[in-house]
Amino acid sequence: MEKKQFQAESKRLLEMMINSIYTQKEIFLRELISNASDAIDKIYYVALSDPNIVFDKDNYFIKITADKTSRTLTIRDTGIGMTKEELENNLGVIAKSGSLAFKKENQSKDGHDIIGQFGVGFYSAFMVADSVTVISKSLTGDSAYKWESEGAEGYTIEPCEKDEVGTEITLKIKDNTEDESYDEFLEEYRLKSIIKKYSDFIRYPIKMDVSSKRLKEGSDNEFEDVREEQTVNSMVPIWRKNKSELKTEDYEQFYNEKRYGFDKPLKHIHISADGAVVYQAILYIPESIPYDYYSKEFEKGLELYANGVLIMNKCSDLLPDYFSFVKGMVDSESLSLNISRELLQHDRQLKLIAKNIQSKIKSQLQSMLKDERESYEKFFKAFGRQLKFGVYSDYGMHKDVLQDLIMFHSSKEKKLVTLEEYVSRMPEDQKFIYYASGESIERIEKLPQAELVADKGYEILYFTDDIDEFAVKMLGAYKEKSFKSVSSGDLGLEDEQKDESEATQQENKDLFEYMASQLAGKVKEVRASKRLKSHPVCLTTEGDLSIEMEKILKAMPNSGDVQADKVLEINPNHGVFQSLKSAYESDKEKAALYTALLYNQALLIEGLPLQDPVEFTNDICKIMV
Ligand code: ADP
Ligand code: MG
Repeated sequence: MEKKQFQAESKRLLEMMINSIYTQKEIFLRELISNASDAIDKIYYVALSDPNIVFDKDNYFIKITADKTSRTLTIRDTGIGMTKEELENNLGVIAKSGSLAFKKENQSKDGHDIIGQFGVGFYSAFMVADSVTVISKSLTGDSAYKWESEGAEGYTIEPCEKDEVGTEITLKIKDNTEDESYDEFLEEYRLKSIIKKYSDFIRYPIKMDVSSKRLKEGSDNEFEDVREEQTVNSMVPIWRKNKSELKTEDYEQFYNEKRYGFDKPLKHIHISADGAVVYQAILYIPESIPYDYYSKEFEKGLELYANGVLIMNKCSDLLPDYFSFVKGMVDSESLSLNISRELLQHDRQLKLIAKNIQSKIKSQLQSMLKDERESYEKFFKAFGRQLKFGVYSDYGMHKDVLQDLIMFHSSKEKKLVTLEEYVSRMPEDQKFIYYASGESIERIEKLPQAELVADKGYEILYFTDDIDEFAVKMLGAYKEKSFKSVSSGDLGLEDEQKDESEATQQENKDLFEYMASQLAGKVKEVRASKRLKSHPVCLTTEGDLSIEMEKILKAMPNSGDVQADKVLEINPNHGVFQSLKSAYESDKEKAALYTALLYNQALLIEGLPLQDPVEFTNDICKIMV
């Protein structure tokens, strides 16, 4: 028996490998199974051109056997096997991939399914094993060989007995140490779950002997242990199946099995892209919000497979933030993986896929909005905030993608409407898209500021989400119509009342100035209102910052001193105004009291906190006694 040293570079690489390339020990099984699958693929490709070899599907499989007593785990395949030279070259030289060479030689035969390429996966076995024994018989050689290694020190190779073509790899699993347990790699259920996780869609059966309890024959309460061979993987991935073969239930079942969510998906999107980048994907739009969706803990992303082998659980690069609610998976054979196959080498392919996916999701949502309004509204109630956030974020970069997907509650329709719908039914004389902000629909409905716009017969969009006003500020305009708050200084209405209220304003200049001085630091101006019909007062704003935005900004940490420029508007046609006027002429103290009361009322209507509630109630008492 000859003992050979690994080549010097190999030795260092092996140590590095064992200690640092992979983040999780469990992937050794993924690597060994992938190699076994490659080995069977190779027979399949040889059989394509060699009439002496018949590829009978039943004879090709991978078998996993764990033995707790001897602490061994065996991975056996009926693949192409290795000759003595191949054992030396492919296992003895690290970073040499027989599979890559095979792919190059067989390009004409469409060998793209083969997984291996870096020539390091095999060594991941040393993460969990003290020693590795490979017994292999090649399809082309006559004798079998045994390759054995305890890691960095080198390996031995000698002839041995093996009847069938194929490879059997036996790992002597490490003993537990103080910080690491290796026992799990001998546990049936654990092995099964690792196989399911990474290798479920390997195209050949992965078999295991599994024990279970079964009722003893002839008894109805006595059980016996039985061992049965089971195929652990599902082999044909649903995403490789033809859409026409699949029913909605199949997609729902996959969603369930994969635990993408506990709800039923609202919609699925099955993509088979064959263009510039080749990939398959199954994406879902969930029905309800995951409990942690709007929290920091939530991680967006899709499962990423390379050739049916799971590479990443949550690949976040595949989804833009505004579509972070989408669940599902992507499988591609054109990804450039890095050496540990955990990360991607270049992200060009991935970027292409991401872009492609994004436009598919968008068009799916659009057609849902068009053809399945009810479903869309359900979706929008759950995730609309995220879309609106998308309009706002990144300086409005995505607004074109998203502006036709967002909806707001309409004062007229009493339901969610799109901007397109709003604009398409605007009367000719209406110049702006009007909106009103507030905590809830009920509250906005009672906002005095909305009266005039509503009286004009114009539709008003109700903004109840924090993000709404920020989002439309970012949009600026939709179809050349700008947005206008019903609380903004100038409503932009062709207004007959204008002259009348200008006149009132002039006549009562002193009163308004007096009131403004009473409210110094609280409001910028007091003015005769053009918009109020039946209500006595309201607060409006001048400039960019609205009262709602002020509230939201103030609620944020380190907000500093944000202040909207507020204007207190008094309805000159309300009885209160007459009382105010006569108080100003005869009793300044009373005028001051009325001013404070009216201001505080306006605060209450806006849902703003009173600076001094006790004083407010005292003031009310003063007018009662
Ligand atoms: P890769 O799979 O990236 O090529 P590995 O380190 O996993 O690298 O494997 C190295 C080489 O060893 C493979 O390319 C293949 O030629 C050979 N090999 C490994 N396992 C087997 C196997 N079970 N049957 C046949 N050949 C194998
Ligand atoms: Mg490999």
